[in-house]
Amino acid sequence: MPNPLYDRLFGAHAGQDTPFLMLADGRVLSHADFLAMAARFAHVIADLGVAPGDRLAAQVDKSPEALALYAACVQAGVVFLPLNTGYTVDELTYFIENSGAALMVCGPKREAGLRPVAEGLGAQLLTLNADGSGSLSDAAAGKSDSFETVDRDGEDLAAFLYTSGTTGRSKGAMLTQNNLLSNAETLAEHWRFTKDDVLLHALPIFHTHGLFVASNIMLLAGGAMVFLPKLDIDQLIEWMPKATSMMGVPTFYTRLLDDPRFTRDLAQHMRLFVSGSAPLLSDTHEKFEARTGHRILERYGMTETNMNTSNPYDGERRAGTVGFPLPGVELKITDPETGKEVPQGEVGQIEVRGPNVFKGYWKMPEKTAEELRADGFFITGDLGTLDADGYVQIVGRNKDLIISGGYNIYPKEIEMVIDDQPGVLESAVIGIPHADFGETPLALVVAEPGATPDLDAIAATVNGALARFKHPQRYEMIDALPRNTMGKVQKNQLRESYS
Ligand code: ATP
Ligand code: MG
Repeated sequence: MPNPLYDRLFGAHAGQDTPFLMLADGRVLSHADFLAMAARFAHVIADLGVAPGDRLAAQVDKSPEALALYAACVQAGVVFLPLNTGYTVDELTYFIENSGAALMVCGPKREAGLRPVAEGLGAQLLTLNADGSGSLSDAAAGKSDSFETVDRDGEDLAAFLYTSGTTGRSKGAMLTQNNLLSNAETLAEHWRFTKDDVLLHALPIFHTHGLFVASNIMLLAGGAMVFLPKLDIDQLIEWMPKATSMMGVPTFYTRLLDDPRFTRDLAQHMRLFVSGSAPLLSDTHEKFEARTGHRILERYGMTETNMNTSNPYDGERRAGTVGFPLPGVELKITDPETGKEVPQGEVGQIEVRGPNVFKGYWKMPEKTAEELRADGFFITGDLGTLDADGYVQIVGRNKDLIISGGYNIYPKEIEMVIDDQPGVLESAVIGIPHADFGETPLALVVAEPGATPDLDAIAATVNGALARFKHPQRYEMIDALPRNTMGKVQKNQLRESYS
């Protein structure tokens, strides 16, 4: 019976004792061990009456069991809904209610708080601890190691993935089997992953980067993952000699560069370093190359679409760009007013179409209609340009655009000038309310360790470099930019604090 996603990612490895997950404590789980665990979980799910098409929400620490829960859902035809481990009971209530989850699996910290919520909403509740114990594993203990895979069509939903909530309330993106499978196939081929690869995996698995990019690619390619619970530089350095490749958010790379143990020798044997989820500063790209000789491959994607663009594997990996549209993905830059393509080099909204693009936001038909055009193009909410060679450059988010006295100001243009000044580590420019202009830019500057940047000198340089309407009205030092676990700067929070 067909279940394309299960068959390709998981079923293809049935009975194979090849290494799949290499854990921090030295244990190695084979593909066969992993599939057996997934099958036992699939029995638990099915025995509880959770039917194909129902949702299973999981807020669990990263572990082999947590990943097997995803596999179990795919095998049982249940829609998997992974949730950020940082969410509180109140936040989780929204996700359970919004998704209509039939079963919630949570960690020990949230159990007491969630029990009444789950009962009130008619969801069953099981627990899974970081060490793999809990009521889910207890229930799975006596179950069979094989499970009859539920028939699915490629157009059936495989997951609800909620967006990171950077620009507002998280939205549940409905992703089909084909959305996930087509992107994993494209990326595995584009980035040349094979069964001989060992991926250093320290990303969370509740987000598209760690789950649908990293894990799906490795499952498809048949390789192994060094599966670390979280970003820990000591562990990255310890395990790098065993790996061939790594995927990370920009913070991985800045933190590695901050550590003198991260040397050219340590990285020499590596085949590929990939970055995404937030912009990689050109400066980081250059320092990384100077240290290791490797050019980080930056790509661009989002919850709703998986990956859209990537720098080339063989050709030039251009710093400050996210490369070209992936094979099968169409990308255009349009005028927000007219929806027509803008001339090459001009800034507009990034729109994408392809087999990777989701089916819409769960229970948000109006939002879906606003962002997903009838012809299949999805308006990403990001602004960008195409350079003369066709590389896509992200300028920022539509919602971070500052409109001052009727003029558009792209914060990134100002941030790039500020970041180049002596003693500056990074910066964020946000719009704050202004009586005459509606909004005006405010610059928040983070110093390099030990440095004291001269804000007046920075203002003078910016004023010399950019048109008057773009000059920030104020500059302020700030200790660090607020970031979420995926390294995304939380400009919403900054706007709230400074407006
Ligand atoms: P929400 O949609 O709820 O506001 P979010 O957009 O941050 O949250 P995600 O889907 O996790 O949620 O993130 C996708 C966004 O991440 C993209 O729209 C883009 O703004 C940003 N992004 C991803 N990769 C890159 C990259 N390489 N460079 C710059 N930005 C990136
Ligand atoms: Mg988004």
